[in-house]
Amino acid sequence: MRQIDVLSLYTNDMSFYGDMGNVLIVSKRLSFYGFEPVVHFYNPGDSFPDHVDMILGGGGQDSGQKNIFDDLQMRGEKLRQLSTQGVPMLMICGMYQLFGKYFLTNSGKKIPGISVFDVYTEATSDRLIGNLVEESDLFGRLVGFENHSGQTYFSSPLTPLGKVTSGGGNNSKDGVDGVIVNNTIGTYLHGPVLSKNPKLADFLICKAQLERYGEEELPPSPVLRRIDELAAKGNEVASRRPR
Ligand code: GLN
Repeated sequence: MRQIDVLSLYTNDMSFYGDMGNVLIVSKRLSFYGFEPVVHFYNPGDSFPDHVDMILGGGGQDSGQKNIFDDLQMRGEKLRQLSTQGVPMLMICGMYQLFGKYFLTNSGKKIPGISVFDVYTEATSDRLIGNLVEESDLFGRLVGFENHSGQTYFSSPLTPLGKVTSGGGNNSKDGVDGVIVNNTIGTYLHGPVLSKNPKLADFLICKAQLERYGEEELPPSPVLRRIDELAAKGNEVASRRPR
């Protein structure tokens, strides 16, 4: 069976508001597409797997970010290299912030990031919290839940993941959420985001398949077609919920 190796990055400290669910959803979808998913859980001090086809990272409290940033620096070069190579990655909230240049916390501590994204994040007292809805050129309407004090700004012109139609997103001024660089996506959508936005899950799987096996088309999956009808209803209902 064709294997796809998925890395769950800093699972112990960085998997808030259901973000760990993204690992489960990707694994299930991979199985339905006929792959054998192999999940590697990576935490500070662990050895990095020899081969990785996809990397998933989630959100966490400022304290969680403080726990992992040293180790992240050590892995920075490897992660930048994998991102440049086109390995698909999804980084949510706290990990999105640390894939940028830095996160300046409310208490004035500057937590360095690894600059995969040319963005920086600074905390404000205006916490962005509630349902977040956005329109993405690649994935249509994306829905999730945001909760962050950090406000993220682009340092150079970048492609956001989506235009916000309800909620905050990167910050309270720009009207956009997230960023896409190579096949690496940053976003403030928790939820787990992949449950209500299966196109995003399939993007990650397509790119992983392309990297590993040189094929882009996913095989048809009647089971997933039915599941995705339910996901579309979930997306619809959540997008109408007030913050
Ligand atoms: N600690 C960060 C903030 O509040 C990230 C929060 C999160 O990952 N949900 O901005």
